[in-house]
Amino acid sequence: MDKYLIATELIKNKINELRKQVPHKYFNKDVPAEVEVNKFYLNGTIVDRAMIVLRANGCEHYKKTGGCSMCSHFNGTLIGDKINDTNYINQWNSVLNSSCFGETHSFDLNDYPIVCIYNLGSLLNPNEISFEALKYIFSTLNKYKKIRKVIIESRGEYVTKEALSVIKECYAGIVEVGIGVESTNITIRELCHNKGCKDIGVIKAAVSILHEFEYKALAYVNFKPCYLTEKESVEDAIQTSIDCFEMGFDAVSIEPTSLQEYSLINHLHQIGYYRVPWLWSLREIIHGIYDRENVEKLDIRIGGYFDEQVLSGSQGEGFAGRNEIFPHETSSNCNVCTSEFVEHIKRFNMTYDVKELDGIEECPHCYNIWKDCFKVEDSREIPQRVIDIL
Ligand code: SF4
Ligand SMILES: [Zn+2]
Repeated sequence: MDKYLIATELIKNKINELRKQVPHKYFNKDVPAEVEVNKFYLNGTIVDRAMIVLRANGCEHYKKTGGCSMCSHFNGTLIGDKINDTNYINQWNSVLNSSCFGETHSFDLNDYPIVCIYNLGSLLNPNEISFEALKYIFSTLNKYKKIRKVIIESRGEYVTKEALSVIKECYAGIVEVGIGVESTNITIRELCHNKGCKDIGVIKAAVSILHEFEYKALAYVNFKPCYLTEKESVEDAIQTSIDCFEMGFDAVSIEPTSLQEYSLINHLHQIGYYRVPWLWSLREIIHGIYDRENVEKLDIRIGGYFDEQVLSGSQGEGFAGRNEIFPHETSSNCNVCTSEFVEHIKRFNMTYDVKELDGIEECPHCYNIWKDCFKVEDSREIPQRVIDIL
């Protein structure tokens, strides 16, 4: 059999084997999985952002194939049970009327110019959340006049005129849709990410449809999937970001891989075949994009680095009680310099100025180790790497 097909089969089997280990948990269907608030950079100013993660039915790609190699959002969904429209509406109302925050906290969406509404999958997929529930949620937003942008997420194939019309007909504001492109290299996207999106044309069409509706398109670019060297991952993230801007995306968010339990990438980490991306590499990516695009103020973000405050959900309670979708390990350097580096990333995210990253001093404990990692090469084709590891 062709090596690519063998590799595909091995990936599918291993992912599904890992997914079977996800414990069946009870979740209250009438409160969201999580609500957190943090800062966001919008048109030159720092504003407050609220992120509401609905307890949901889960990503269809995950259910059909086992899902993407780096994702375990499914851990936070109901396995063998269903969230119906009433549950979604109850969840949403519990945010609007503050009841999900307990008695002490009052919450007003009007305090948040940026509102993210996520569902651990695709908010535009009617098999995950019905158009009726979607319509209800968006129709309540009009009265919050201080919201300047609503950000949602969806796989490209669900960005349809029908789905966007549902929103357009009941909500007058700006909507940005984040689409997981991950990589524009088909082998990397399919073998390293298991994205299940062989045709990049689906994503290009989604961007055009969004612009037709005068909505914004945000690309998520996963940095450092499985099986790639650090250097290859950097090069892929640079090229993918440039391709995304060329495809018409309004913004790109580089998402360094973090480790969630029961994901394939977490398994590879456990058996010694994967290290989370180095923060030093993020600087290379930003330079690579800025150098090649020759444009200094592109709307480019480094995802995952915020000073978040969790208002509802268990993420803030330490490892044992943490939210089931919260990663247990994120992109890092060494223990000495990681937190300082993360502060620089946050400042970069607020200014888009690469000097924020250039000003970081070379760490005596890990900079040279990273440089050595960056020199590592692998002469094998990706399918062979998969076969050797799995
Ligand atoms: S990354 Fe997105 S598409 Fe992939 S399994 Fe997770 S939720 Fe689904
Ligand atoms: Zn260090």
